[in-house]
Amino acid sequence: MQDVPLTVTRLLVHGTLVHGRSRITTWTGEDEPQVRTFAETGARAVRLANALRDELGVRDDDRVATLMWNNAEHVEAYFAIPSMGAVLHTLNLRLPAAQLTWIVNHAADRVIIVNGSLLPLLAPLLPDLTTVEHVVVSGPGDRSALDGSAVRVHDYEELIADRPTTYDWPELDERRAAAMCYTSGTTGDPKGVVFSHRSIYLHSLQANATESMGLTDRDTSLVVVPQFHVNAWGLPHASFMTGINLLMPDRFLQPVPLAEMIERVRPTHAAAVPTIWQGLLAELTARPRDISSLAQVTIGGSACPPSMMEDFDKLGVRVCHAWGMTETSPLGTVARPPAHAIGTDEEFAYRITQGRFPAGVEARLTGPGGERLPWDGESAGELEVRGPWIAGAYYNGPDAEPLRPADKFSEDGWLKTGDVGTISADGYLTLTDRAKDVIKSGGEWISSVDLENALMAHPDVAEAAVVAVPDEKWGERPLATVVLREGATADFASLRAFLADEGGVAKWQLPERWTIVTAVPKTSVGKFDKKVLRRQYAAGDLDVTRL
Ligand code: ADP
Repeated sequence: MQDVPLTVTRLLVHGTLVHGRSRITTWTGEDEPQVRTFAETGARAVRLANALRDELGVRDDDRVATLMWNNAEHVEAYFAIPSMGAVLHTLNLRLPAAQLTWIVNHAADRVIIVNGSLLPLLAPLLPDLTTVEHVVVSGPGDRSALDGSAVRVHDYEELIADRPTTYDWPELDERRAAAMCYTSGTTGDPKGVVFSHRSIYLHSLQANATESMGLTDRDTSLVVVPQFHVNAWGLPHASFMTGINLLMPDRFLQPVPLAEMIERVRPTHAAAVPTIWQGLLAELTARPRDISSLAQVTIGGSACPPSMMEDFDKLGVRVCHAWGMTETSPLGTVARPPAHAIGTDEEFAYRITQGRFPAGVEARLTGPGGERLPWDGESAGELEVRGPWIAGAYYNGPDAEPLRPADKFSEDGWLKTGDVGTISADGYLTLTDRAKDVIKSGGEWISSVDLENALMAHPDVAEAAVVAVPDEKWGERPLATVVLREGATADFASLRAFLADEGGVAKWQLPERWTIVTAVPKTSVGKFDKKVLRRQYAAGDLDVTRL
């Protein structure tokens, strides 16, 4: 067979030609959204690549960063930069300034493409960004913040105007770096993950499989998951492969505009973390909208509470739960029930697992003593994975050896996910916790996720996060932090009783420490930030009741 490299360039050329009529709709907050076809997007990507090479001198594997919302220009950057051989580095705009500075310097970004609305975030960092030579500003925003800065400033539209309309794309080695993204650091420092052309191509095939997201050019996907969060779960790349229309929310990520864009643009699919959906469900309950177009919603990034899945079922929207991480590109498992369970009592039980492994992701479970555990749906251990879109190491700067820390990679090269769970005989993953979040009480493990899910099923509970806190007698015990819904009256004793009676939580696992918070602290990608909760507890900042 022919050995043709699997590249992002191929996706760009294919999408531009074959799916030229598919569209990227970007929400503008004004009367009309911006609409651009894939043909136009591809043509603009060509001009961007010419501008980056001829005007900014981007060469070889230079890192070109983006500090952008989800929008059409960001998709242009997604394809232009890797296709010319350079490396797209998506920056997480929700990170604290010091972390962002560290990441840009670590990746040695030469160029940053930034949305004008994010200049107030970028400008103060510039004096500390040691490698950045050019800033390219796209979209509205006050540019005076960049006055006096040492970098060269360009306007995106002016930069790409009047550029050649063709680019002689180089034939790239498929193992070459195409894009990079740093982990959001929920449990530690951020680490750079570098995606190759090959891994992105293969991951796109997987994302488009029927058993995965399975979308086509008849679909429109509302991509709420940020483009800086693991390539928006691969959706922009997958879309150029099959023509999926994209609806991009730009900076309008609040429940009201999201509900409005669903009603007006009528996407058939949407992808986001549970936190976003929690806000949207509350909005839809308060002010019902026509969301009948939404056939399917992909939820991942953290566990989808079963109660949320049921709420969506009532609205006629089918939730598909998925698990992944930055290191897995991110699609690891997708929870489509097997044929024999459909229409039976078992179906829901399959849907609330993290999902089934595809052929491209090999999995194994490792017990505390390093022993391999069986796939029996009961033996819980740390999940390890390997496959062609799973990271084999972390990035460690241009000329340094890649990093393979022992807590992240096994000696034989598998990725240690840090997630703890079980795998059923038919290959469905159920996560009970992150290794760092497990509550170790008197030699037994308590799953914080199980307690959270059981609590969030209570009608008065909007959100609940459970963390381990030190306990003299048991080593650790669960602390339940609860966000009540507006006007709710439940007290701790009744919540505890609910856990026992309705949630099926064993007596010894019931939390005795309880606190009400106005909101669970969240990480830069909207996950419960348990580090912050543990810190607040240790500092005595929480008003804790002991039952
Ligand atoms: P970070 O590790 O910094 O949070 P990632 O976005 O890479 O950044 O997070 C990956 C982690 O998110 C996984 O290791 C897992 O703990 C969690 N996660 C992702 N999807 C799910 C899911 N469906 N259910 C439970 N946990 C999930």
